[in-house]
Amino acid sequence: MPDSLAKHIEVISINDSKEEDQEPVVPHERQVVDDVIAIWREDPSTESASISKLHGIVKQRHPNWSVSEKRIKTLLKKFGLSNNANQQFNYAGEISSASDPNLQLPEKVKVIMTTKRGKGLYAKSNIAKGTLIWEEKPFFFIPPLANLKLIKSGKACTYCGKLLTSARSSSGVSMLRGLDCTGCPELWCSMSCKKMNGTLHASLKHLSKGRKSALNPEAFLDLEEYCIKEQWNALFAITLMFADIVEDKSGEKLKYVKSMARVSQATRYKALESSAGSFDSLTGGALFVKEQQENLWKEGFSKFSKVFPKATSDGTVDYNEYLTLLGSYNINNLDSCVFRIQSHLNHTCNPNVDVETSPNSRYEGIKVFAAKDIKAGEELSTTYVNPNHTVLQRQRELRANWGFTCSCNKCKEDLKAQHRRQSSTASGGSEKKADIRKMLNETREELDGESIELEIPNDHSGERRKSVRFDEKVTVSS
Ligand SMILES: [Zn+2]
Ligand SMILES: [Zn+2]
Ligand SMILES: [Zn+2]
Repeated sequence: MPDSLAKHIEVISINDSKEEDQEPVVPHERQVVDDVIAIWREDPSTESASISKLHGIVKQRHPNWSVSEKRIKTLLKKFGLSNNANQQFNYAGEISSASDPNLQLPEKVKVIMTTKRGKGLYAKSNIAKGTLIWEEKPFFFIPPLANLKLIKSGKACTYCGKLLTSARSSSGVSMLRGLDCTGCPELWCSMSCKKMNGTLHASLKHLSKGRKSALNPEAFLDLEEYCIKEQWNALFAITLMFADIVEDKSGEKLKYVKSMARVSQATRYKALESSAGSFDSLTGGALFVKEQQENLWKEGFSKFSKVFPKATSDGTVDYNEYLTLLGSYNINNLDSCVFRIQSHLNHTCNPNVDVETSPNSRYEGIKVFAAKDIKAGEELSTTYVNPNHTVLQRQRELRANWGFTCSCNKCKEDLKAQHRRQSSTASGGSEKKADIRKMLNETREELDGESIELEIPNDHSGERRKSVRFDEKVTVSS
């Protein structure tokens, strides 16, 4: 390069930043943990990286951080993020379930309770791949919270949440004769929805003259508003479920709820917290601090108990039972609804059934097919997570959401393969620092002369962060 030209070129380092930024700082433990999770997300192959490699990447991202390999190791252990399954918190042992006495099972299916897997569904006879094993409609219909505003203005079915197009003419007169509520603007999409839900609707949403109701409609309206404001699907769902139970004279619904896999949301929270809670699909690191979380649960309980003054005063449901309803709903729901048979399916990462859902599952129901040939006696299994995620991602997600460490055959094989890869890299000698340096240089070369835009997580949208008290499945982005 001619000298004359060189004079006009200013060399800017990519680490160009102000002097004060370069002052060494000791990062907060959450910053370190969140950074490691961000690294894993950006490149899932780093999930199996050694601590020293992770340390190198962290230092590259934050040259001014004063953090040792040892501290990273300790923090990953503390937050349950270590790759050693024995150091991770799980709550499988705290999930209880019982048999559901009146469950009508499909012809080829039976329920077996085992100490290892709790209750599960098993094939009674051979089932050929592709067979429709059963279909079912939700046992508890929970309309999506997002549709609640539409429901309240008569634009979606008040029971199943199905969108109603031009249900009312411009004059506001219902075109769905007999499917509208006489006491409020809400509508049903069909006679069957009205039949299923009419009585409950009246006692939840309208003050009954005469007979004293077990439900308080004013408190319910208040709770609805609160759930919309807080985007708290699970509270909304358990309130509808419990109202259904209170109104169900047959006692079937209560029996089912008592028999389903049950766990307190407080227990689930411990696992979420121990995985740093940073696997939320939307925000990452979406955990409230514990005190804040407890205050919200309590606030929710106070709204909930006002809807059911009788059940709370006679002790049918107390704060702990309420937390158990929340936790149990969260581990059992499928697309916000609860299916009586499907909720018995246990997980493997290589499932033998396909649960077919559609946007219409809420009212049309789900179909369960054999994904492969199933032999008599074999357990039917579904997958709770995306099977294409790496084994470590799957295991974290399963542990945080459902409390167990998966030890299915696919996990075993994937872990073995990973160990093989790790040990072959390790025997390759001094990858470590030299490799990182090389990687850094390559990155610099790639950046050279290019303007790049870094994707910055939009954590500060002004909205209250969604938290895991909602029924979102905590997902690991791939
Ligand atoms: Zn409907
Ligand atoms: Zn009404
Ligand atoms: Zn697995």
